[in-house]
Amino acid sequence: MSTPVPFMSLAPGEDAADIRAAIDRVIARGWYILGPELEAFEAEFAAASGATHAVGVGTGTDAIALTLRALGIGPGDEVVTSPLSAAYSALAIMMAGATPVFADLDPDRLTLDPARVEASITPRTSAILPVHLYGQPADMAALSAIATRHNLLIVEDACQAHLATAAGRPVGTIGSAGAFSFYPTKNLGALGDAGAIITSDASLAERLRRLRNGGQTTRYHHAEFGVNTRLDDMQAAILRVRLPRLAGWTTRRRALATRYREALRGAPVTVPPERDPGHVYHLFPIRTTRRQAFQAHLRNQGIETLIHYPIPIPLQPALAGIPGSRCPIAEQVCEEVCSLPLHPALTDAEADRIAAAVHAFG
Ligand SMILES: *Cc1c(COP(=O)(O)O)cnc(C)c1O
Repeated sequence: MSTPVPFMSLAPGEDAADIRAAIDRVIARGWYILGPELEAFEAEFAAASGATHAVGVGTGTDAIALTLRALGIGPGDEVVTSPLSAAYSALAIMMAGATPVFADLDPDRLTLDPARVEASITPRTSAILPVHLYGQPADMAALSAIATRHNLLIVEDACQAHLATAAGRPVGTIGSAGAFSFYPTKNLGALGDAGAIITSDASLAERLRRLRNGGQTTRYHHAEFGVNTRLDDMQAAILRVRLPRLAGWTTRRRALATRYREALRGAPVTVPPERDPGHVYHLFPIRTTRRQAFQAHLRNQGIETLIHYPIPIPLQPALAGIPGSRCPIAEQVCEEVCSLPLHPALTDAEADRIAAAVHAFG
């Protein structure tokens, strides 16, 4: 049997020596929280993302929740979002005290269907939280038009979409703010939890800096109810090593996706179309109505696949208290999606072997 192909590896690769040096630098300095590495990373990440401000926080979930709170969204407000995502998208809305409302998917793009978003608006709706799922941007032109028509805010969940563009515009800069995660598996990953918000609104950035630090204006003066969620200097230093490599890694992800698309032509699975060339391929899901057999077939050949995601968010027990609307498209997608390995270190030979194994699925 040939060498196994894991879904991905989280051990540092080409950047291992630089990461070790960055960690040593932080230890030698002895400044771990709200220090110079965070300040430098925030400036560098904002620049790379096309925004004027970035605010580092503890996780992508906190990035979403804190941004909603900073925008004044809370109890009594509804936020329209996608039923297909990491459940944290909706949990973050609940953390802010607001209520998630789920609009079903565009079946090709697998992101929010703008028409269904508009149909789910009520007098209590205050914002839309589109998710740029798998690295493919949501239809931001249509969603922005709806937001303008109904006087709604947009906060972008860009946790899977570092450096992606929607119709040429950087994700996270189209709405009021964009939330990013640097969870280790993300396109830009730390060696622990980390997240950030980007915005071009200086007063929003300032409020976020306060909220992430206990609501303090100056030391020991808690002007408002904030939380404790900061991106620490160790993770910031690690992210600074990786950020300059991110554009190259993104190019590699796109090349692998193109290779898969060509190699999978005529294969007995459905490959979701690319609807925007700004897609950054955090994941490469295919669809099959015989998923269990498909995963077993690839497993037999040493190829690991994962499911993103097996359960639509509104059907999660954690959301049982939220008045649910059914999302039949998302429910079907959750039965059929299966992610093939795709990461910058995957070789062409491995991708070809995986594609050949998919073709051999009878
Ligand atoms: C990872 C992720 C989150 C949560 O980010 P954490 O850093 O794990 O809190 C939210 N939304 C999406 C779409 C994600 O992929």
